[in-house]
Amino acid sequence: MRDHAHRLPYAQRRARMPAPPRVRRGPPPPLAVTHALFLDIDGTLVDIAPTPDRVRLHPGLASLLPAVATLLDGAVALVTGRSIRDTDRLFGELVLPVAGQHGCERRDGTGTLHLHAANTATLARLRRLIAEFAARHEGLRLEDKGTTLALHYRAAPHLASHVHQVLRAQFNAAPMEGFRLQPGKRLLEVRPEGRDKGTAIRDFMSEPPFHGRVPVFIGDDRTDEHGFAVVRSLGGLAIKVGPGSTIANHRLHDVAAVRRWLDDAVAIG
Ligand SMILES: [Mg+2]
Repeated sequence: MRDHAHRLPYAQRRARMPAPPRVRRGPPPPLAVTHALFLDIDGTLVDIAPTPDRVRLHPGLASLLPAVATLLDGAVALVTGRSIRDTDRLFGELVLPVAGQHGCERRDGTGTLHLHAANTATLARLRRLIAEFAARHEGLRLEDKGTTLALHYRAAPHLASHVHQVLRAQFNAAPMEGFRLQPGKRLLEVRPEGRDKGTAIRDFMSEPPFHGRVPVFIGDDRTDEHGFAVVRSLGGLAIKVGPGSTIANHRLHDVAAVRRWLDDAVAIG
């Protein structure tokens, strides 16, 4: 007999699926000198603010991150949805290897910049479309990072489903060659296909000073799951910050717990 399950509405299909195993994920083991450390920024190293430009670094981080980098012979990189320019503004004098815009741009361990160009005509069309949509709704804000676009609705959370519906419909009506929608925390992003935090971590892991180390990635959001998948496939530690389902194998409670875990490594090392 043919299985028509795929024709059922999602909620009914879901009801037929076995419940996922409830796995308790404990805190990670201590950071080791053989690790390569990859860190998301917002919600991982810094608490999320109403807008990304209102985020401030905890004063302790400015000395903690260089100490961790020394411990790991420089194998520490930031892996973020922010642009590199924005990341540098936030971190000031602390210049680390960084993958920005979900791996669309990357500054490697030698300081060399790698850019993954997108289809500029489609990007321009998307930028115009989303800007017009944002202008029509109080509380929506378009953040243009260059290669990726983020539509923030943190200031208007009641618009969440409207934002998702409208943008999804636009994508369905006119395929946006080479781009995809990526939901995040109180935002919906448009970014090039084929690049994500996982590909960024893979790139870093093929180069010194990361190559040959065991990767560790800490992140809090759905986009970080790409990074968790790569790190786990390489036998490393995937650490989810905060609640929510995840493929990570460890969990830390919040930003303060991440800082304590890094502090402990420096104190021991
Ligand atoms: Mg984050």
